[in-house]
Amino acid sequence: MVRDEYLVKIRSAREGQKLSSEDIRFLLSTSEREEEIALFEAADAVRKVYVGDEVYLRGIVEFSNCCAQNCLYCGLRRDNRALVRYRMSSAEIIAAAKNARSQGFGTIILQSGEDPWFSRERIVDLIRAIKEETDLTITLSVGERPYADYLAWKKAGADRYLLKHETTSPNLFRGLRPGRELGERLEALRWLRDLAYEVGSGNMVGLPGQTDEDLAGDIQAFIQYDFDMIGIGPFIAHPHTPLAGAANGRLNRTLRVLAITRIVTRDTNLPATTAAGVLDPKGRRLALSAGANVIMPDITPPLYRQHYQIYPGKAQTPADGHGLAEMVSSLGRRISQGPGSRVRSQYI
Ligand code: SAM
Ligand code: SF4
Repeated sequence: MVRDEYLVKIRSAREGQKLSSEDIRFLLSTSEREEEIALFEAADAVRKVYVGDEVYLRGIVEFSNCCAQNCLYCGLRRDNRALVRYRMSSAEIIAAAKNARSQGFGTIILQSGEDPWFSRERIVDLIRAIKEETDLTITLSVGERPYADYLAWKKAGADRYLLKHETTSPNLFRGLRPGRELGERLEALRWLRDLAYEVGSGNMVGLPGQTDEDLAGDIQAFIQYDFDMIGIGPFIAHPHTPLAGAANGRLNRTLRVLAITRIVTRDTNLPATTAAGVLDPKGRRLALSAGANVIMPDITPPLYRQHYQIYPGKAQTPADGHGLAEMVSSLGRRISQGPGSRVRSQYI
């Protein structure tokens, strides 16, 4: 049964009224399927008005799985000795970028663990080479680095940066990312904004110990920081991490966070995450119907892709090809050929 107050809360969010933490928790915590459907439909309607029917593609090249950090949730963590480590050569990374362009991608994400071997200068050289050889928009996602690195990469031509804050609960953050502090990550996000990158951030849903109050805090941070892209994915337990055996995040809870985020942020870019697709084969399709407008296909060469095991099942995600285009067109949507920058809505 749909409660009137649930529909009223969705309507006030759609009309732009500020949601308190309590309001967000109320929307998140429904156990009524009809209420959830009303939330997803509202998010889909907001998506259509503010970002339209186009689905943006961003190809991800995972160029190194070496990492100096030890995040408890991640299969690339330093102490995971079971992982075969790799670094792609500059020539391989540039070839992957050119290949992405010839496949029709307008933008690529260069992602890695926090790998100091890829120094400021090495990444500058990569950006310059890719910009010389292609007209690709470049997103970097290589973790927390000094301000001077972000500055040098922007000057070399990088356009965007993806750095998920993961959780806005300082205690949860501290427990999950040993030796790191939430404040440092948020500061890095402010630097990136000041340097005029398009900034992507995001969280994981269903982290062990995470409450609805924490998730409400994440959504409030999404509004406060006005991110250009927000990746909202379920936590998936990896067997070779200290969180082995923990419960995975639930898809529907993830979709509720996504839907509320669409309604309150309106014109930001929201991916249907790979992790949602790993939890359920229909996960990305459901996300596209609950507010998402971006897909990030993995275009890492298969030789390396198999070793970029952030969570189980990820490396087995097929490279998308035709299946993706069919899924998007079956929703009455179309794949965009452009770089998919955030277009600020004139309606806000
Ligand atoms: N090292 C960079 C960083 O941490 O920002 C980029 C690579 S990291 C593997 C990319 C993202 O993977 C993280 O931001 C995190 O949200 C996600 N991730 C890591 N472990 C995960 C897990 N077990 N389940 C779901 N997502 C996970
Ligand atoms: Fe390294 Fe990023 Fe994984 Fe943390 S989430 S262990 S920083 S790759």
